[in-house]
Amino acid sequence: MIHIILFGPPGCGKGTQSKIIEKKFGFFHLSTGMIFRDHIKRKTSLGKLVNFYINKGKLVPDQITTKILVDKVKELFQYKGIIYDGYPRTKNQILSLKKILNRFSLGKINLIFYFNLQKDLIIKRLLQRGKTSNRNDDININTVNRRIEEYNKETSLIWKNSLLKNNNIIMLNASLSIKKISVFIEKKIYDLMKN
Ligand code: ADP
Repeated sequence: MIHIILFGPPGCGKGTQSKIIEKKFGFFHLSTGMIFRDHIKRKTSLGKLVNFYINKGKLVPDQITTKILVDKVKELFQYKGIIYDGYPRTKNQILSLKKILNRFSLGKINLIFYFNLQKDLIIKRLLQRGKTSNRNDDININTVNRRIEEYNKETSLIWKNSLLKNNNIIMLNASLSIKKISVFIEKKIYDLMKN
């Protein structure tokens, strides 16, 4: 099974690209944020719990997030691949993901696309998305700033010192057009599937 991680700050286009890859390759699009928002909408007890963090722009604690991930991955054994959108976001989450893949003999992390986007563009995109997305965390400038802070403080450097080879991590410029980025990503995935 192929495992591809889309990594980068909020608003960088991970969700958009995940959907394109999902359609093109038939991989499963696994977004922890989407799973959380679904729980919030259905007012489950988990939804109430995570709402507290998400609305403040804070990361949901690892224990909760990883439990959600394990439960989901267990349902996906029949897929050719999984695209991870918004997971991992901490060092612990990388370790957990590796453990899960090991435990179920699902292969390894094949590729990581690292989206780079400058802060002013992140803010612009999130506030723009907030107008139509009904996402509380995209409407409030304080929450938006807090998420960027969390990303810079907790998430952005998590691959440093990881045992992955350099060629597993592919940097990309997230200010390019959706089309340009998707063509770039698709080519890398085709190359991976050829080998
Ligand atoms: P974005 O990438 O635009 O921030 P997401 O849907 O990926 O949107 O995440 C929304 C929120 O859900 C995050 O701000 C965070 O509070 C929570 N969240 C999602 N994934 C994780 C994760 N892997 N670890 C901790 N919190 C998470």
